[in-house]
Amino acid sequence: MLLLIPGPVTTDARVKAAMAQDYAPWDNDFRQAYRQVCDSVLRVAQAAPDEHAALALPGCGHFAVEAAIRTFVPQGGRLLAPSTGAYAARLQRLAADAGRIAVPLPVGAAERVAPQAVAAALERDPSLTHLALVYSETGSGICHDVPELARIAHALGRRVIVDAVSAFGALPLDLRDLPAVDAVVLTANKCLEGLPGAAFVVARRDSLEAARGNAGSWSLDLADIYEHTLQPNAGPRFTPPAPTLAALAVALDLYHEEGREARLARYTANMRTLYDGIGALGLVPYLPPALQGPIVVNVRAPDAPTWNLQLFVDALKRRGYVLSNFYNTEQPTFRVGCIGAFGPDQMRQAVDAMGAALGDISITREPAASGGFFPFPLTA
Ligand SMILES: *Cc1c(COP(=O)(O)O)cnc(C)c1O
Repeated sequence: MLLLIPGPVTTDARVKAAMAQDYAPWDNDFRQAYRQVCDSVLRVAQAAPDEHAALALPGCGHFAVEAAIRTFVPQGGRLLAPSTGAYAARLQRLAADAGRIAVPLPVGAAERVAPQAVAAALERDPSLTHLALVYSETGSGICHDVPELARIAHALGRRVIVDAVSAFGALPLDLRDLPAVDAVVLTANKCLEGLPGAAFVVARRDSLEAARGNAGSWSLDLADIYEHTLQPNAGPRFTPPAPTLAALAVALDLYHEEGREARLARYTANMRTLYDGIGALGLVPYLPPALQGPIVVNVRAPDAPTWNLQLFVDALKRRGYVLSNFYNTEQPTFRVGCIGAFGPDQMRQAVDAMGAALGDISITREPAASGGFFPFPLTA
């Protein structure tokens, strides 16, 4: 089964194998392995260990997005949050429910965040202390220029929080160059090609020290987790997802062996194979090529009477490929992830399977009953 959902992703057999044992989280060997995983995450972010810390948090990515907002934006504080899509909307809600004021900046569904618009909004409203960005907006597939936007925030004296969950490890990130960034949020189970259950925040040490008492939650207080890491022989604060972290240690070794640029090139090749293949099936991608990021491709739902996303997903699953049975765009689409431990040859086979699965759906259709047309050449 190849997961194309996108995230949790398909993992290497060696990564899965690391989970097949029991781990004692406060055992000295595990404490050391735990610290090594955090160091390794820090290296992926190109962070300076004396300036940054990688903090692990059990759970999903949204827990860590909330933790970053609570820790760095004080209660009642205001953050500018460009409305790039479904994941930015979630970030805005997490902030609002935590008593922070997320001020949306409108962004078109098929647009990158405009640097001038961010600069103007920050200049207009000095009470906006933070800028919160989604690096790869999984809802649409568009990647935003986080380094450039973070430089603009820096020039205007503002702090930056980045939801890099679907980007981290593939898209460029050099934290030594981005002093305005307080926090970068990531999980084990996207471009790092690990398993779900562990989230991380790479954060500035000085910002963490200044953030004590902000969170209003012990569970989600990164400043408290940070303080814990400063103890000698520090391990996890509370019970961690130990098998997931052990698997991530293996995934990170494979990551450093491959290198970020090669990984991005592989995902880009997956995306192009998919994008072209979808076109050859007579389907229309949601984004024009110039806006299409390498992480996830949304495809417009075929304009055919027999289209049914769940039936398509079921038909494709019978052929060995799993897609999400929901979408995050305004118009109906289906989304296909390009990330995980596989390459363009497997994506080509996945596209063939999509063509065949479309054929499966059409079989249930009354032939010519609607007098309409069936827009896909059935190549299977
Ligand atoms: C996957 C993802 C998240 C986190 O999702 P969880 O289900 O909470 O792990 C957050 N932001 C983006 C952009 C994502 O792609």
